Amino acid sequence: MNVEGRKIQVRAWRYNITSKEGSSVPVYLLDTDLPENSAWDRTLTHFLYGGDQYYRFCQEIVLGIGGVRMLRALGYENIRRFHMNEGHASLLTLELLDEAALKANKKQFTHEEVEVVRKQCIFTTHTPVVAGHDQFPLDMVEKVLQRKEIFDMKEVFCCEGILNTTFLALNLSHYINGVAKRHGEITRLMFAKYSIDSITNGVHAATWVSPSFMELFDRHIPGWREDNFSLRSALSIPKSEIWEAHFTQKKTLIEYVNQVTNEGLDFDVLTLGFARRSATYKRGGLLFHDIKKLKELVSKAGPIQVIYAGKAHPQDQPGKDVIKYIFKIKEQLKQSIKIVYLENYDIELAKKMTSGVDIWLNTPQTPMEASGTSGMKAALNGVPMLSIPDGWWIEGCIEEITGWAFGKPQINGTTTDESDANDLYEKLEKVVIPTFYDRDRFINVMRHCISLNGSFFNAQRMVQQYVTKAYFR
Ligand SMILES: *Cc1c(COP(=O)(O)O)cnc(C)c1O
Repeated sequence: MNVEGRKIQVRAWRYNITSKEGSSVPVYLLDTDLPENSAWDRTLTHFLYGGDQYYRFCQEIVLGIGGVRMLRALGYENIRRFHMNEGHASLLTLELLDEAALKANKKQFTHEEVEVVRKQCIFTTHTPVVAGHDQFPLDMVEKVLQRKEIFDMKEVFCCEGILNTTFLALNLSHYINGVAKRHGEITRLMFAKYSIDSITNGVHAATWVSPSFMELFDRHIPGWREDNFSLRSALSIPKSEIWEAHFTQKKTLIEYVNQVTNEGLDFDVLTLGFARRSATYKRGGLLFHDIKKLKELVSKAGPIQVIYAGKAHPQDQPGKDVIKYIFKIKEQLKQSIKIVYLENYDIELAKKMTSGVDIWLNTPQTPMEASGTSGMKAALNGVPMLSIPDGWWIEGCIEEITGWAFGKPQINGTTTDESDANDLYEKLEKVVIPTFYDRDRFINVMRHCISLNGSFFNAQRMVQQYVTKAYFR
């Protein structure tokens, strides 16, 4: 590949993802750390989200242009569809345009080639904030790619003086979607010129269902792994068995927590879980907005304990401060509410937490949660969510049936920490805590969680929708 006149060599590592039925999907991981490359170019595949704009742009050339060339070199001649997630890979459209021009014996691609490429491409955006979309100054882009004339083509490169990779992907895709219905609406407001659909995210059921629920589903709903829709019949599993499976997972989690933290969490106390990347918009500290009110409601309605986990991005100081704040509150509340913050949140810990707590808490600032997925992992294990209605929860929440929503938008449509926290306290005191300590009512919610949400917000349904709405269109 040519970058500013230098040649960069790329190799690929193949990772095969195999299914129990024996099919296999190759994943190619690109690597520039080769002796043929300069010392600096060798580092291009070392860091995700590292370096400056120049470094990132070079990475996107490796991914987009290098990616297509790697696939061709590996013998993939007839790829029907290219699916871009975020703008990071959208330079692949440039390579496809060049390929199409070459095929048509043209020196330079034209509107005809744009139409050819558009039929091949699909774009999914995941970010409801403008700042989350990559932009590069056009003089740098021209210097690095060493071509100028193409950027006059407004139909492809729409923006003055910058290359916005999101617009590049939007302009060259025939199907565009957000990752939940609400996120689709937000995306249409951001990019009004384009036709934008939505496909709501889903999680992989066989990965996220915990051992005790696997055993339960295998007994009552054989074939649930091959057909996740069949989880709808979880409604007919006896309540006692649902609770038993849940309590097994809860016991595993609490024993683990007590072993690593020595905090002595209780097996019978309502346990809230909150774990995700510590970004400020997730508002990890919202539960503690008014400590006095929180203490009062707990003493009236019944005890709670809270398990936290999640790391901040290394360069996100405000995100790190949220974690510090929760540590401070944990000391202050020692006498009334047990709080733990677990280290090293990863998929293994996420499995333990999403299946082992009683209720999954989510407190994002709307409309920042494009979808959210951890609540879906919880739903598959009969753990209901208590969340701001944002992302997938707008579709997933049926009040007091699959969980609970809180937070009242103000007249201008926005919410404040103050009003959201007050609404959270009221919901906890009047509805959520009483429901938990009335076991029969709570298990009713758990069952609906699995049969209405576990059966739907999974990767199987999601991929089927991509196939019918995007890939075969
Ligand atoms: C599921 C998961 C996330 C994402 O959680 P959200 O609710 O979508 O923010 C982050 N980290 C780990 C380890 C996870 O398993």
